[in-house]
Amino acid sequence: MADTLNTSSQHLLALGQIGFWYALLLGLILGSFINVVIHRLPRALFGSDDALGDDHNKQQSIAENLRCLISPGSTTPCCNHAIPWSDNIPLVSWLRLKGKCRYCSAPISLRYFLVELFTGISFAAIYMQLGLSWATPLYCLFLALLIALFFIDLETYYLPNYLTYSALALGLLGSALGLTSVSPTGSLLGACGGYLLPWSVNYLYRLVRKRDGFGGGDFKLLAVFGAWFGFASIMPILAIASILGLLTIVVLMMLRKEKLTLERMLPFGPFLILAGGYILIFGAPTWFGY
Ligand SMILES: [Zn+2]
Repeated sequence: MADTLNTSSQHLLALGQIGFWYALLLGLILGSFINVVIHRLPRALFGSDDALGDDHNKQQSIAENLRCLISPGSTTPCCNHAIPWSDNIPLVSWLRLKGKCRYCSAPISLRYFLVELFTGISFAAIYMQLGLSWATPLYCLFLALLIALFFIDLETYYLPNYLTYSALALGLLGSALGLTSVSPTGSLLGACGGYLLPWSVNYLYRLVRKRDGFGGGDFKLLAVFGAWFGFASIMPILAIASILGLLTIVVLMMLRKEKLTLERMLPFGPFLILAGGYILIFGAPTWFGY
């Protein structure tokens, strides 16, 4: 009896370990694709490097924008050289090339390495937490979208609707299927409230200061978190993101000894995503009384 139990728990352990490595590998490979999305999606939307963050989007169909992501195959961001598979191995290739392009020796951003690493680790962590269930791929996709949004906003000050709306749809779907901790009604209310609360704060701010406090992409991102974590998460996320943002500004000012003006403000999206990640891992902090 004890032997049988031992054997079956050993089997389970082995299965769990295979799942862990599988999730890690899948995360590394998807991380490689997220790097392509981070580089190509804004350029497909805005037309060129110079127009990044410009309000006037290049008018293209959804199909054309999405085709840019897969065709042509992998090319170097610096000199557009085709990348052979052997130089496209997650983590390994960046390290082996010492962060430099094989063809023109231009530095390859550390971001390529970090995105692959983060995605791999988050997929493995989600698998450890949720195991083999429908919730696992759902949360993995959510994390993948957040990682892409984080780096795109950092580079372009812009959160593409393609990604925010996809994350919103996943959150609503997840709650409808009972895969997240929020009820379907809670998810819908969270999405609406997540959008309207910062929208009204910004409306008041604009009345006083005659300019926007933060952008429409930020409201949509908060709607995403409302759909995934419920309305109660919105205030904590806003508070944590604001504290992180202020701390970063203080540190940057001390390091660079220069003033960050309002026109050269940091994008808010990455801080919202860090705060959302905190809520995802630890839940809403109790000092908010929820
Ligand atoms: Zn190059």
